[in-house]
Amino acid sequence: MVATATAPTIRVVSPATGGLLAEVPDEGEAGVERAVAAARGAAPPWGARPYGERAEALKRWRDAILDDPEAACTLVEESGKPRHEAIGIEILYLCELIRFTIRAARRALREESRHPLLFLTKKTRLVRRPLGVVGVIGPWNFPILNNAADCVAPLLAGNAVVLKPSELTPLISLRLAELWRRAGNPADVFQVVTGRGATGAALVDRVDGVMFTGSVDTGRKVAARAAARLIPCVTELGGKSPFVVLASADLDRAAEACVWSSFMHSGQACIRTERIYVVEGVAERFENLLAERIRSLRQHVPNPGGDEACDLGAVTFPRQIEVVERHLADAQSKGARVAAGGRRRTELEGNFFEPTLLVGATQEMAVMREETFGPLVAVMRVRDAEEALRLANDSHLGLNATVFGAPDEAMSLARRLDSGQVILNDVLVNYLVVEAPLGGWKQSGLGVRHGIEGVRQWTRIQAITVRRPLLAPVERLIAKLLAFPYDPRVLAVVSRALRLLYRRGLAEKFRAPH
Ligand code: NDP
Repeated sequence: MVATATAPTIRVVSPATGGLLAEVPDEGEAGVERAVAAARGAAPPWGARPYGERAEALKRWRDAILDDPEAACTLVEESGKPRHEAIGIEILYLCELIRFTIRAARRALREESRHPLLFLTKKTRLVRRPLGVVGVIGPWNFPILNNAADCVAPLLAGNAVVLKPSELTPLISLRLAELWRRAGNPADVFQVVTGRGATGAALVDRVDGVMFTGSVDTGRKVAARAAARLIPCVTELGGKSPFVVLASADLDRAAEACVWSSFMHSGQACIRTERIYVVEGVAERFENLLAERIRSLRQHVPNPGGDEACDLGAVTFPRQIEVVERHLADAQSKGARVAAGGRRRTELEGNFFEPTLLVGATQEMAVMREETFGPLVAVMRVRDAEEALRLANDSHLGLNATVFGAPDEAMSLARRLDSGQVILNDVLVNYLVVEAPLGGWKQSGLGVRHGIEGVRQWTRIQAITVRRPLLAPVERLIAKLLAFPYDPRVLAVVSRALRLLYRRGLAEKFRAPH
């Protein structure tokens, strides 16, 4: 969509250079109204298509994205992330998600039968029908992964989707919508509306289901609005993921993984490592390994067309640098020490802050309690695994957690962590395990994406109970027993049957298929 002379616009600026990339319309309520009306018209024929046709449409879209020379460039330009992450994480994720969801949705949407015990003459067909129009509201940190990718499951489930990307990074979503149309798919089935928060709010007020990824505060507002309308709402909100290092850990591998999960996309990832707990005996060595690796990271303006040697790019949202500086100052004032990095890169035009490691952190510091979401991470030393567990669970968030250590020890800790996801002796890649439902505990959100569960939530279940043809005479008899006029003799029979079935356990002996 291109800004018109009259509509208010949003300036999309490169976080790496400060240069203007484009202007897009702030479509507001009127834009949402238009898009949802068009989606309402498009949803029924889309949902009525044979499943294979919807799957083919998604495959054509995927191929168009893979063949597009511009998609990765646009993503790098507006997010400031290295091209390596644009392709190796976001585009890879989208392709893998489409592959899996095509198979999973076929299974998820299949009709099932249930056979009631009390009414042996009947069976119930479970039919899953699309919600209608689903609104997806995405954040700026993963402009494909938490935006267009979240449209895949609702689309395959037969819904039309309206996506509202963040005002900071709308360009890749617009590009992907264009590729959807160019792939020969119906334009109104997948639309993008650009705008600010008010546009997102207007979307929640009009659709039949919402997928939201972003901050806890906004998530709460979105969920409250959805609750007022009694529509399903899935939220993936913040994280404060702990990284636990046990004495039995492979320290070299743990350090390598920890640095990646702390600084991938300059620390702007919901499941990133936000705080590190390392047991005393191995702490000094681990901190040194971290500091050494962090100092060797290459941070500069990413080259959208192909960057050879860029590990860290820019911070997409300038406010995250303020959060980093606030957490840093708070921690230093309470006794923590900078072991690597520590300053804003003012010599560069864009938003850059050195990848920074704090050691000597304690649990009451803001850096250990609030989401930092930027290139800063802190280490706290702990006595043993039990203390690590207690501190890891001491958070209002519970999205992801990592444990490095001997497999049995790490597993027993994982089972007691209050976190929707836990990964052992590795980091972050659990987000790409699209086969497993992924969702946060506590204030990290409600509901899940991925897995078969991530498809079914975009449908309404309808139970259609029918008579099994051969049993019609028996059914007429049962109907007589239950219907008006009530007969005390029937009640006496029912009372005796109740005791026989439940008190004596006869009902337990029946083996109905469900
Ligand atoms: P928000 O939660 O405010 O934004 C997420 C999306 O919601 C954006 O598209 C935003 O639009 C939209 N939005 C804003 N207000 C409303 C509303 N009232 N109703 C509906 N939609 C709305 O995140 P921020 O960009 O403000 O980031 C702030 C913090 O959130 C970060 O510091 C970080 O801690 C956390 N965060 C977590 C993410 C995660 O992956 N879990 C992702 C991003 C941020 P617009 O951007 O145009 O205002």
